[in-house]
Amino acid sequence: MMKKNKRFGFYLMAIIIAFALNACAQNNKTAEIANITVPKNNKLPMEKTDEDWKKQLSEEQYYVLRKKGTEAPFTGKLLMNKEKGVYKCAACGNELFTDNMKFDSHCGWPSFDKEIAGGKIKTIEDNSHGMKRTEILCAKCGGHLGHLFDDGPTDTGLRYCVNSLSLDFVSEADVKKEQQQQQQQQNDAGISHIQTITLGGGCYWCVEAVYEMLDGVVSVSSGFSGGDENKITYEEVSEGNTGHAEVVQLVYDNTKTSLEEILKVFFTVHDPTTLNRQGADVGTQYRSVIFYNDNTQYETARNIIDAINKEEVYGKPIVTQLLPFKKFFKAEDYHQNYYQQNKNQPYCRMVIQPKIEKFEKVFKDRLKKK
Ligand code: FE
Repeated sequence: MMKKNKRFGFYLMAIIIAFALNACAQNNKTAEIANITVPKNNKLPMEKTDEDWKKQLSEEQYYVLRKKGTEAPFTGKLLMNKEKGVYKCAACGNELFTDNMKFDSHCGWPSFDKEIAGGKIKTIEDNSHGMKRTEILCAKCGGHLGHLFDDGPTDTGLRYCVNSLSLDFVSEADVKKEQQQQQQQQNDAGISHIQTITLGGGCYWCVEAVYEMLDGVVSVSSGFSGGDENKITYEEVSEGNTGHAEVVQLVYDNTKTSLEEILKVFFTVHDPTTLNRQGADVGTQYRSVIFYNDNTQYETARNIIDAINKEEVYGKPIVTQLLPFKKFFKAEDYHQNYYQQNKNQPYCRMVIQPKIEKFEKVFKDRLKKK
């Protein structure tokens, strides 16, 4: 019960901060996290010999991608493409743009107003032909894509003017087929689709309550991780010097949800920019932290953090720690499923309920069927 007494001590502070957070929420763009495009991998740059590129690419592709050529305007196969899907580098498959970034610029080449986040495209100054322009290159293979101009008509003000020959288009239906094939390969290889991840996003009562509602989440446990193995009672952890964070351990079915979706929820319902603090809950036990199990989880987390930072969703940098998972200690029984058991408590109504409402609004299509 100590937790409740402590929390009531912060009651007035919580009200003030809840109002402050609401004010902040109107200024940041956290509802957009659900739709952010997260790069799938950040593999090292690809290097091939000129001979290899010649063998792999058609003559026209080689001329544009490797010799910085330009296709004739109004001739490219993707100029008028309006299908839903992803535009990849034609040389290496690096995902560069999605259909919702494309617009009709009437300039004769496919045009986009932004790129998929995560450093997939690099820019260099191009002083050729007596002009000063910004050239865009695939960051993975160095292939020439086109140029970047600052005369775009949308709110980004940008126009990525790209050769069709530098791009491959994969329709949304084919992207889904690719994902299903990958899933099937994993199943065939005996890789389980049931996975776990351990997340600290402040008070575990809040985080647990939200994830209990997400489709594909099999179970959620509240507990502690990251600290002293000899100090694992709630009272010890709440002293703030055990190194433990309050965490939830999720078991999820990655045929129904994904780590990317789970982390999008995570970054929507807590503030990852406040060091060792969530609202009125202050101390290292309330820090924002992801305990990853393997390199894939680490890369997924790293990529989503980079994407949110790049989109400036919060207007300040994310301070979430990424740490290798070691051990999870389940908290006392009365901390499990706390929100459902104590919905009328002031902390539940003032702090947890708004997070649930935000989750229900942003992820309305992803709730468990009752
Ligand atoms: Fe490339």
